[in-house]
Amino acid sequence: MSLSSSRFPLTQAASHLRLYNSATAHIEDFTPLREGHIGMYVCGPTVQSAPHIGHMRAAIVFDIVRRWFDRLGFSVTYIRNVTDIDDKILNKSREAHEDWWAWAYHYELEFANDYRLLNVLPPTYEPRATGTIGAMIDLTQRLIDRGHAYVVMNEDGSPSGNVFFDVDSWPEYGALTHQQEGTISDNLTDGKRHPRDFALWKAPKPNDPLTAHWNTPFGAARPGWHLECSAISHRYLGDDFDIHGGGLDLRFPHHENELAQSHAAGYGFAHLWMHLAWVTQKGEKMSKSLGNGLSVEHVVDSSSAWIVRYALGSAHYLCLNGMITFLMKLKKFGIVCKNSSNLSNNIISRFQL
Ligand SMILES: [Zn+2]
Repeated sequence: MSLSSSRFPLTQAASHLRLYNSATAHIEDFTPLREGHIGMYVCGPTVQSAPHIGHMRAAIVFDIVRRWFDRLGFSVTYIRNVTDIDDKILNKSREAHEDWWAWAYHYELEFANDYRLLNVLPPTYEPRATGTIGAMIDLTQRLIDRGHAYVVMNEDGSPSGNVFFDVDSWPEYGALTHQQEGTISDNLTDGKRHPRDFALWKAPKPNDPLTAHWNTPFGAARPGWHLECSAISHRYLGDDFDIHGGGLDLRFPHHENELAQSHAAGYGFAHLWMHLAWVTQKGEKMSKSLGNGLSVEHVVDSSSAWIVRYALGSAHYLCLNGMITFLMKLKKFGIVCKNSSNLSNNIISRFQL
């Protein structure tokens, strides 16, 4: 349900929209595919560990975009997925002697709590990967039927569960980022035929729990990350939709692979891409893997959540958003908040920015 479309007609501003399309690197006139309606898909979190401020910037940026469309009078369907199964979730939960699904749900709730704390509206729908297995099977079968994916077979002729996208079969690969060198490694394991091919489904590893795979026409398997976003966006937004959003770091290989899968399946997919820059700390991207993620709890510890929301949302989404930069910006704008300097000082001293 749209927040305001029933209350506001389309404004004049709605007919003069121009948006930066990161697929073409140009500002373009924006015309929705369906008059008065916007379909938006944004890659959501992999719920492997606690959220940090970088995740919240992404949530806030697209919350602002969504609210802005809504305020202009559009009916917005906003889909953001939850990646609740992947290698990291399985590995971390195993090390902690916990069930992977309980581990994922715990962090999904932490994300939901931080979204609420920073007044990020829930999307129209928030599907989990594990709740969309059928759509992923359908998309994979379609790719196999069209000659763009292959199932790796066991020696006895049974399907192994490993399925790959055949990049050589799709000459348009690279259309989004113009990177042609393929994905991650030259490692031809699990029956992969070419280094550029990427996994659609993964056969269970010897120490994976039984609950971490599904019986599919391709063998027992769990879905790959790229497949998830193509299948979910198609299920809830259709063959074509208006905007695909996500972090700049997702452009390659994740979004390139999404685009290849969806186009190779015969779908129009996203018509415009919005990629936001990340939050930096000491000039480096804030991330779980670098171990420099600031939790929302820490940042709002001595201040109001609205300050953090304002600071994260006031930088242009294409600009890197350094913690000090955005906190100092509050003063530049003449905003006096008794806690803002405490917030800056706390962050600077506590995290040695
Ligand atoms: Zn995605």
